[in-house]
Amino acid sequence: MKIVTSIVVLFFYMIGTSQTNEMAQLEGILYKDHSLVSIQTFNGDISKINRLSQNVKDSRPFIAPGLIDIQINGFVGVDFSGPDLTVEGVKKATQALWEAGVTSYFPTVITSDFNRLKKNFAVLAEARKDPEIALSIPGFHLEGPYISPIAGFRGAHLEKYIKNPDWSEFQELQRAAENGIKLITVAPELVGAIPFIRNCTNSGVIVSLGHHNGSASDVQFAVDAGARMVTHLGNGCANEIDRHLNPLWPQLSEDRIHISIIADGFHLTKEEVRTFYKVKGVENTILVSDALDLAGLPPGEYRRGERKLLLTQDVVKLPKENVLAGATSPISKCVGVVMDFTQCSLRDAIQMASSNPARMFSLEDLGDVEQGKRADLILFTMENNKMVVKKTYIQGQLVYSQK
Ligand SMILES: [Zn+2]
Repeated sequence: MKIVTSIVVLFFYMIGTSQTNEMAQLEGILYKDHSLVSIQTFNGDISKINRLSQNVKDSRPFIAPGLIDIQINGFVGVDFSGPDLTVEGVKKATQALWEAGVTSYFPTVITSDFNRLKKNFAVLAEARKDPEIALSIPGFHLEGPYISPIAGFRGAHLEKYIKNPDWSEFQELQRAAENGIKLITVAPELVGAIPFIRNCTNSGVIVSLGHHNGSASDVQFAVDAGARMVTHLGNGCANEIDRHLNPLWPQLSEDRIHISIIADGFHLTKEEVRTFYKVKGVENTILVSDALDLAGLPPGEYRRGERKLLLTQDVVKLPKENVLAGATSPISKCVGVVMDFTQCSLRDAIQMASSNPARMFSLEDLGDVEQGKRADLILFTMENNKMVVKKTYIQGQLVYSQK
């Protein structure tokens, strides 16, 4: 009996994970319509999706495209803006992100000394050549240094490194990054910001407005110049603002820009998340984690370069300035929170955490479970609005399996 059980277990294990060098077959509940499917992959792509008959109550995990996080500062102690960034560190962070269901991400480098920015982009460019993780890093995000120097709007960014946009300086960073910078967060009210946005747009970099106190016309000029997004709407904003004239309304009312939001349950209230989601809709909302390198470490006080940070269970704070410095949860948590806060479907939450960023950055083979797409897939359950990742596949290869 024991042997029979073992054989049966082995059989199901093989169904779940069987792969030769080139083929894999996985079964689960498709996130879009909750139908039971069997997905075959070949040469790293989804080659066939078969619908299977299903019992009403099927306990198999959901299958969805891997999550795509376009704003993440670091993970498991690896800081993409830190002085000690190495290719090995990027690898460690990437592998830890696979466990959280993130198959693609943009390492985000924030306002810093120019030489540090340059050095870190060079390390990231090197990391992108590592065949083991290259597929998981489609680009980088530069958040700053061309943002508002005003307290509150600058958030956790160090004032002394904040400056007006400088196109030739940016080009130098882009060269160090080997053209890997695909997204930049800029304040539109700064001197020179509008031509800078135009140059970025013409060079193929997506411009996102963030950490700013721009007026309605600043936002409009920026969008006319090509800005496509808003970075973590509702954060990177002073605690007290004018009820009429503030950066929130113009960005909410402007139909041509998408928003990113940190729906970790702490950076925005439930009402903010609901309102932003209702105004922009599922099509124009992107979830980001904004996770810090401290994510995944035990709570306590940490030193990061020149500053002291307080890591709680849920967020990272700068105790001196009394501002949030970043999140402690990967984007998989935001999927559950946004469902809870807005009552949106799993399909919609995955669209905001995978399909929309894929579309924004023209990652045409990602962001959906469809024949011909790259087999970057996650198997997971939802337990009390919490995503529990069971398996992660990249290009049809199993890269994480829950023990
Ligand atoms: Zn920020």
